[in-house]
Amino acid sequence: MRSRAWATLALAALAACAAPPPAPGREGFARAPVLLIGLDGFEWNGVLPLLREGKLPAIASLLRRGAYGTLETFPGRVSPALWTSIGTGKDVDKHGIYDFLKQQKPPVFYASTDRKTKAFWNILSERGRSVDTVGWFVTHPVEPVNGVMVAQTNTRENRQSKRTLKGALLPGIAEQVFPPEREAEIFATVEEVERDLDGIVRERLETSSEHPPERLRAIVDASAWAYRADTIYERIATRLAMAGAPDVLAVYFGSTDVLAHRFWPTARPRSFPGRLFAGPTGRRIGPRMAPGTIGNGLFGGAYWRALEPQGADGWAVRVLHRTYQGADAAVGRLIAAMPKESTVILVSDHGFRPWGHEDGPDAFFLAAGTNIRAAGGPAPERLTRSDLRRVGSILDVTPTLLALVGIPVGLDMDGRALEGVLTPLPGTERPAPIATHDTAEWLAARTGAAPAADTGDDENERLEQLRALGYIK
Ligand SMILES: [Zn+2]
Repeated sequence: MRSRAWATLALAALAACAAPPPAPGREGFARAPVLLIGLDGFEWNGVLPLLREGKLPAIASLLRRGAYGTLETFPGRVSPALWTSIGTGKDVDKHGIYDFLKQQKPPVFYASTDRKTKAFWNILSERGRSVDTVGWFVTHPVEPVNGVMVAQTNTRENRQSKRTLKGALLPGIAEQVFPPEREAEIFATVEEVERDLDGIVRERLETSSEHPPERLRAIVDASAWAYRADTIYERIATRLAMAGAPDVLAVYFGSTDVLAHRFWPTARPRSFPGRLFAGPTGRRIGPRMAPGTIGNGLFGGAYWRALEPQGADGWAVRVLHRTYQGADAAVGRLIAAMPKESTVILVSDHGFRPWGHEDGPDAFFLAAGTNIRAAGGPAPERLTRSDLRRVGSILDVTPTLLALVGIPVGLDMDGRALEGVLTPLPGTERPAPIATHDTAEWLAARTGAAPAADTGDDENERLEQLRALGYIK
């Protein structure tokens, strides 16, 4: 769709392991850019009460013209594994990303080089489609794509600081932006967000009022970290869309999961329902779970002492509302930056219970725009849980994406295109599925890829850089 000087360069880099030449055009579906937004842990039970109050205008607008429901996910699996399944259409044993860390002691994070199969950005690029990927899980070091790739990067220090297990764009670390010549421009956005972050945190977490108490500093830091990452990714993605939307623009936001872990245990039933709160005294907080297993244990007793007395409209509830509203606003800004005819897909990796998501509650799904069926259900403010049907699995996202841009689905994928929500063009034929997109050449190049540097001197250097930049003490 857009021409870029470096695209030639990117394709040259890909040539060594390229698939057959790009298909001449899209078959089966009308041509339109696709905006894929990943919202970690986004949950209908958090969405529905806010829809009733008219507080999620962007999502309400998509609901009025789109298809929606839930997606089956995998109990007990964590976000890096699930987002890689979403990005590949394959279960963990086929993609190889099982967890945050591939080694516990010393901690080593999974890297993009550990992924054993192509993700949609590889497939799209090789087939001549343009694709921008911003902040997707396990994308550091970045891969050469026919577009821009901005990594989600994690470090041992980030983990030790107890901020969050989720990554971010971190100054001073190599291979976070492709193509490298866009690095300066991308990192200008990081600096800009750093300047705005205090205001964002003050607004979302009310840090200017008596809340939160000083003893909750750790929670505020962890939350600010997630808002920082999301704001950076949103602004980068919005600017990429405005500069000329690619065939697929994919962006990931993590704060909806991070903040839910911190605050949902204390939210009141009607607003963020399903409260099963118990403090450090050891009462039940969820099935088979004890305090400390829901991601808040790292903050210790201060967390529970400070939040237990929260009332119906307490701080925790307000923070959750503003986090979901913030996600909705980001969705709205991204849609506004895309061409009007775009297909928009919102997806989470799992839903959320007040105590976490280890039992794998169904994920969120909502799509609207070109090639998407309008469900024609109740008005968004009257939508209830009983209006939601399971439309497929998180494994179906990549096959659906490929179908929309006229690329054959791989038969080795565990998912299939979500036919129930799609409206193919009448009288056109879809490309026949192929056995696999993982060509022998690509797999061979993959095996030979250098493992991501996350040990020894490299790591020390990385930490030094973070210290110098004031990121860590
Ligand atoms: Zn989570």
